[in-house]
Amino acid sequence: MLVRFWGTRGSLAKPGPDTVRYGGNTSCIEVRSSSGTLVVIDCGTGAHGLGQALMKEPNQPIRGHLLISHTHWDHIQGIPFFAPLLEPGNEWDIYAPLSLSQSIQDTLAGQMQYTYFPVTIESLGAKIKYHDLLEGVFQVGDITVRSRYLNHPALTLGYRLDADGVSIVYSCDHEPYSHPPLTDKIELRNQDRRHANFLRDADLVIHDAQYTAAEYADKTGWGHSTAEYAVDICNAVGVKQLALTHHDPMRDDNAVDQIVDAMRARLNSSRQPLHVFAAAEGETIELESRLDTEATHSATEFSAVTRVTPAISEFSIFLGATDAQTAEVIKGAAAAENVRLTAGTSTKAALQIIETDQPSLVIVDEQSAGVDALEICRRVKASGARETAQAHIVVIADRDHATSVLDEFEPVWIIRPFTQEYARTRIRTWILRTTCRWIRARMPEHEEARLAALNNLGILDTGPEERFDRITRIASEAFDVPIALVSLVDRDRQWFKSCVGLNAKETPRDMAFCAHAILENEALIVPDAFLDPRFADNPLVTGEPRVRFYAGCPLKLPDGNFMGTLCLIDTQPRQLDDRKINLLRDLGNLAEIELSRGLQSKPD
Ligand SMILES: [Zn+2]
Ligand SMILES: [Zn+2]
Repeated sequence: MLVRFWGTRGSLAKPGPDTVRYGGNTSCIEVRSSSGTLVVIDCGTGAHGLGQALMKEPNQPIRGHLLISHTHWDHIQGIPFFAPLLEPGNEWDIYAPLSLSQSIQDTLAGQMQYTYFPVTIESLGAKIKYHDLLEGVFQVGDITVRSRYLNHPALTLGYRLDADGVSIVYSCDHEPYSHPPLTDKIELRNQDRRHANFLRDADLVIHDAQYTAAEYADKTGWGHSTAEYAVDICNAVGVKQLALTHHDPMRDDNAVDQIVDAMRARLNSSRQPLHVFAAAEGETIELESRLDTEATHSATEFSAVTRVTPAISEFSIFLGATDAQTAEVIKGAAAAENVRLTAGTSTKAALQIIETDQPSLVIVDEQSAGVDALEICRRVKASGARETAQAHIVVIADRDHATSVLDEFEPVWIIRPFTQEYARTRIRTWILRTTCRWIRARMPEHEEARLAALNNLGILDTGPEERFDRITRIASEAFDVPIALVSLVDRDRQWFKSCVGLNAKETPRDMAFCAHAILENEALIVPDAFLDPRFADNPLVTGEPRVRFYAGCPLKLPDGNFMGTLCLIDTQPRQLDDRKINLLRDLGNLAEIELSRGLQSKPD
């Protein structure tokens, strides 16, 4: 494989006499496999020079693949100036992390709106296919690409490329997970250990090294590594060559030299033959092929390439009279989905609006006083306007119904309470008439008794306690997962008595995986939430903390009531074998013992 640096500067282009040797252009790297597959990683201002060079090559039209780590400007600003994208006949695939709010195509189109640039994304001449990525693996010609989330304020992917028997990792715009970051004594924990595994035994790692350890104290949380961290972590996992990159715009060539000298001195004491250097614009590195090994991925790995959901437009919702809180949730959900909403608080107003507005979705509240839900539903179905007659009817109610007078309209029931995210996902589903892959857990039998038992423990909303924290710490370490929780399922929320790796104290019950887990005696294991119709559209899956794997062991009191779970969460798909499930059960038993202490300490 051949690697050529076209842009090595971080944050902002900084051309000038002080940056001649290492370069002033922002991130852009060209990679070629021996059979000629062309991959470009990131498209900062360095892409301009690469584009010019590609256009002069004899091999035209150009077939290429562009991997974007994230859409901060210093990684995409070269796109409008990348000539091979403008030229008809060329063919490009563009890959970037899937964001919750919009597709990569829309994000890139944003920086090419008329206010910023005269050529729109639609008028680029090349044939372009856009791909939104998750963590996982995919194939680009003869190159196997693995994507892995990095630690950065924007959703960012690192890429590992395998071809010709060699491995290259691009890990840019990444901050250590642990603070303070590594010192000489390597002790990798959790997420940092997984990052290390992503880099392990690579022939070349191109790593963020924007700061030095001395500068880092003021830069914590900015999403970048120190040179020391990059060197230590690569050294620990047998990396052969390390290119420090994303050079700070404040750093001139001599300052970069000094960092390289310091890093080589740092390595002198260790016996590993890691070669460290600073990536320099224009520099080419050839990695010798080991053609006996073939780059492929195993069937057990998960694909990183996702489907893209179509956007909603030109739909409208009618909302009948309901209580103020429910109305606010539905209105907020409609606004977030960009769907027009009209509301009528009397039967007369409702009928008038439905006649003129012809909504695609009609939401009524069974409990609403003064408004005749039955009459509204009848008028919708009898409407002369075909669209209105076909409108979906949604009935809000306080509990599941065996039968109702509204059943003849085949309504969808939505049971209070529900979150805005839940309403939002359902609205998208009802209007697009696709399946909603998010199910709220049913209520356990004898729910009131269960809640009374939970309250009786006197544990809700108490502070952290070492007796629980040590269990989640052990779980997180033993299973190598970023998140471990002791979660208690309260009436409308799940509340975390102990949590490793998550900043939230609670989440709404209708999003809670644990609300499902407390319905069964056995542990609930979700190997890949994306493939599970109960969870795929859950906002904890589609957004932060990006749950892909869940394992929850229900925590039972001696009286048989399930209070919550000890659960494990990962951002990538996983499986647990029987031994691991037993281990989870054992740790769960320890948590149960601690929970039960709340009972013993209480006078009868
Ligand atoms: Zn950057
Ligand atoms: Zn960035």
